[in-house]
Amino acid sequence: AGGSLEIFDELKKKVENLSLPVKVGLLEEKESNVTVKTSGCHGFCEKGPLVKIEPLGILFTKVSQDDVDEIINDTIKAGKLVDKLIYKSPDGEAYSNEKEIPFYANQNRIALSNCGNIDPEDLDDYLAHGGYKALSKALLEMSPEEVCKEVTESGLRGRGGGGFPTGKKWEFAYREKADQKYVIVNGDEGDPGAFMDRSIMEGDPHRVIEGITIAGYATGATKGYIYVRAEYPLAVKRLRKAINDAYDQGLLGEDILGSGFDFDLMIKEGAGAFVCGEETALMASIEGKRGMPNPKPPFPAQSGLWGKPTTINNVETLANVPQIILKGADWFTSLGTENSPGTKTFAITGDVANTGLIEVPMGMTLRELVYDIGGGIKNNNKFKAVQIGGPSGGCLTEEHLDMPMDFDSLQEVGAMIGSGGLVVMDENTCMVEVARFFMEFTQNESCGKCVLCREGTKQMLKILERIVEGKGTMEDLDLLEELALAVKDGSLCGLGKTAPNPVLTTLKYFRDEYEAHVKDKK
Ligand code: SF4
Repeated sequence: AGGSLEIFDELKKKVENLSLPVKVGLLEEKESNVTVKTSGCHGFCEKGPLVKIEPLGILFTKVSQDDVDEIINDTIKAGKLVDKLIYKSPDGEAYSNEKEIPFYANQNRIALSNCGNIDPEDLDDYLAHGGYKALSKALLEMSPEEVCKEVTESGLRGRGGGGFPTGKKWEFAYREKADQKYVIVNGDEGDPGAFMDRSIMEGDPHRVIEGITIAGYATGATKGYIYVRAEYPLAVKRLRKAINDAYDQGLLGEDILGSGFDFDLMIKEGAGAFVCGEETALMASIEGKRGMPNPKPPFPAQSGLWGKPTTINNVETLANVPQIILKGADWFTSLGTENSPGTKTFAITGDVANTGLIEVPMGMTLRELVYDIGGGIKNNNKFKAVQIGGPSGGCLTEEHLDMPMDFDSLQEVGAMIGSGGLVVMDENTCMVEVARFFMEFTQNESCGKCVLCREGTKQMLKILERIVEGKGTMEDLDLLEELALAVKDGSLCGLGKTAPNPVLTTLKYFRDEYEAHVKDKK
């Protein structure tokens, strides 16, 4: 949308025949061809299109086709590939190195380490960046029990929302005896404002394949599915190519890397129902049934896909696994907080200066996220709130700005990390309208199986519409709260159980706004 592909074509046309000196070692230089590559999301969406010159690490922001000659002349043709040049982007910001930019300076990119740095359609590029080394280590040097143990000791928790310990999940499935087991990547990301999993699948598809193959080996599963939304066509295309390339290189299929381990991987495109992110609905969808949740137990680790033990992990969770296998559990626990080790990706959007995709150590405060990385509120407006975790999450206010962002701290204040969508809102936002928006979303997406979710959310939406239109009463506020608690208690799956969260948190922190709507009624 920003014109990146035209810039890519222009760069390719003008640069690819150039042969230039590149520094090797301290003093020696050699002639080397310059190549132009596409990459996945670099994260700095607000400042795109981006062009990065390696090995210098120079980042050009807000590039247009007209900048291409200047970029080539100032960097590549200047023959000073070892010098750090400073480029002033059209909006006046000057950066010589990506790591100096405040947006990147406080990030720690593990799951996203390759996104923006490699060509996602080139297996060789992935291999050159250490790709499939973890798979090789797991298959050739570790037993399945040892892989489970390493992941358990790393403290990795599911990044899809629940925060369940990944290693425990794997151990449960490993212990089950069955003639067939499955592993599934849950790539059914559907929260408004969330694009973390999409970016990983588009920007580093082999990482996802490596992660799920390790999960298959650890749990004893020989078949895997990547469940990805059909609305993510680029992710589907790149995953398909990556799977084919992995088969061609013996990284999938029979006797992987001569280890004796067989693993087949397929893609299932979801038709876009939000509820299919719930694991029992997701499995029903893969089986060709209507995507509706089922009660648990039985848990998928005991009886999942086609009644067989199944492990389901989120995309980001699996993207962390190769590095944990390579660098060890101790390295992972040295990041983040005691109960939420590692990092978390967030899609930061809304009224913030730097929208984009970020990855930070768990426990970073909301203030650091919004002000240091996000660059503060647009147009110097005042911060009002953040909706975290999409329609299942909740809203955080000024009083939460210094709260650490980790699984447990968020749960304590009635919100949840969810998959990691962060919608920042300024002083001009009506919080009742925000609650109405999310309620409309979940109401539309309710599968209709249980009465409280199906009918309760409909009645809640009606009340919210009444209030927004200025036709509500004080009694409506009490009724809304009562219904919200009933829907939370009486729904079968996570969608219904969490649908009232935006209403409950806005009622808690912004009741005065609800009351103002009600009092202002004619
Ligand atoms: Fe369907 Fe809602 Fe019940 Fe979940 S809670 S099963 S979405 S009706």
